[in-house]
Amino acid sequence: MRKPLVVGNWKMNGSVAFVEKLLAGVIGGMSNQQVDIAVCPTYVQLAQAAAICANSAIAVGGQDCSHVQSGAYTGEVAASMLRDQGCQWVILGHSERRQYHGELSALIGAKLSAVIEAGLRPILCVGETREQRESGDAQTVVAEQLEGSLQGQANLGELVVAYEPVWAIGTGLTASPEQAQEMHAFLRGCLEKLTEVDAGTTRLLYGGSVKGANAAELFSQPDIDGALVGGAALDAEEFLAIINAADSA
Ligand code: PEP
Repeated sequence: MRKPLVVGNWKMNGSVAFVEKLLAGVIGGMSNQQVDIAVCPTYVQLAQAAAICANSAIAVGGQDCSHVQSGAYTGEVAASMLRDQGCQWVILGHSERRQYHGELSALIGAKLSAVIEAGLRPILCVGETREQRESGDAQTVVAEQLEGSLQGQANLGELVVAYEPVWAIGTGLTASPEQAQEMHAFLRGCLEKLTEVDAGTTRLLYGGSVKGANAAELFSQPDIDGALVGGAALDAEEFLAIINAADSA
């Protein structure tokens, strides 16, 4: 049995006032849902978000972290620093990190080791572009991304994998429940082959324009264990609707 997990990726959005209002709205609308929930604000909003969420069912996570523990790495933030700020989770390998920061699987793998070493839980993102899907390479691409980051990892902790087709992120286009399920089943098979983790208990999230209106259909698929949510996580009502859909799945 895999407990559903809903994670909000706020990306580079918000302000002190926005964080306060958004979290008050989400926490105020919660009613003992049996779902794991996390929000991932920017680094500078972490302490604020962690303080507000402290007595709630919402955990806090980072959107990325450094691959090293400390030192002369201007602008970087170590996994242990995220833990110090109250984080439990860290998103790694988001397509925007891959696209705008040139992150490759080997670096993402090093970040994954740093996250596990710091006692945090990684959410490893994989996903193909539209061109890769249209040319029939979607499974090859996600398998390579997965393998490239997990290779040589002795301990994967409580790994979570998020399938986020790049063509569905922030575009309003969602993978159909069948497309998402097919990829999730494929990813579970890859985890089984590549790693020592119990693929049957590893949570696989779908991400890409998830909202209240399409969440239930996605969560009804057997291998979709929750969602990584971008835009809709910035709206308390939408985020709550997704949480409720996961709770009813
Ligand atoms: C994301 O950035 O992880 C994401 C899924 O974004 P959106 O929900 O806005 O497509």
